[in-house]
Amino acid sequence: MTVATLPDVLGGPRAVAGLVVLGWEEARAFVDAAEAEGRAVILQAGPGARAYMPLEVWGRMFRVLAEAASVPVVCHLDHGDGFETCHRAVEAGFSSVMYDGSALPLWQNFEVTQRVVDMAHAAGVSVEAELGVVGYAGGAASQATDPAEAVALSATGIDALAVSVGNLHLMTEAEAVIDFNALHAIGAAVPGLPLVLHGGSGIAAEVRRRIVAETAVRKFNIGTELRQVFGASLRNAMLDPAIYDHIGILSRTVGPLTEAARGVIRGL
Ligand SMILES: [Zn+2]
Repeated sequence: MTVATLPDVLGGPRAVAGLVVLGWEEARAFVDAAEAEGRAVILQAGPGARAYMPLEVWGRMFRVLAEAASVPVVCHLDHGDGFETCHRAVEAGFSSVMYDGSALPLWQNFEVTQRVVDMAHAAGVSVEAELGVVGYAGGAASQATDPAEAVALSATGIDALAVSVGNLHLMTEAEAVIDFNALHAIGAAVPGLPLVLHGGSGIAAEVRRRIVAETAVRKFNIGTELRQVFGASLRNAMLDPAIYDHIGILSRTVGPLTEAARGVIRGL
C-alpha cells in the first residue's frame, strides 16, 4: 500500500508532478510512468473531472491504483471549492485535498482553510491552499501572492501553498515569465513550507529545473501538455477503421501518455 500524502513526498530536493487526470487511461499511464521512473506522483481530480464523473468514483479509482503501485502515489483533490467538497473527498478516499479560497478576502480564505485543515488532518489527509490568483491563458487575470498573507495563511497548518508568480493555467506554449524575486520573498516568509506552481505546462523545462534548484517550489501542476498528447494519440487511433470499441480506441492513448509523463517526471 503506497497511498501517500503531500508531506510524504514533498520533503526532498526534487519536485513532484501533480498530474491532471480526466480519465482511467491517464490515471494508469501516470502511475506506470512514475513506477518506470522510480518517483512519486500526485494524481489530481479537478473541477472539470468532478463535473464529468462523481468525486467518489475518482477517489476510489485513485486509491485502487495507489494501493497497487510500487512508488508513493498521492490521491489529490485539485481546486476544492469549499469545506463540503473537501470533506466529501476525504470520505471518498483522497489522501490530499486542495482548498482554493484564493478568490476570497484573506480572513475568509483563512477561516475555511483552517476548518479544512482541522478536518483533513484528523483523517491523516494533507492540505494545499492558495493565495493570490493564478489566472487563465486568455481568461481571468492573475494577482500576485503577498508574502505577508502567506505567513498569515501558513498559521492554519497547511502542508503546501499554491502561489501566483507569473504562472498561468491552460497555457499551450511554455511562455510563462516566472518572477524569481517574488518566489524568493515568499519562500523566505514561510520557511519549510513547500510551494506549488499551477499552470506548469506554461513553464519551460529548463525554467522548471531552475525553479526547483533555487526556490521552495516542490510541486508543479501539469495538465495541458499531457492532454494534448491524449488528443493527438486518440485522433491517431481513430484513423484505423478496424478499431471501433471503447477499449480498443482509448487504450491506444496509454502508451503515448506514459512516455510523455515519464519525460515530465524526469525533468523535475
Ligand atoms: Zn490550478
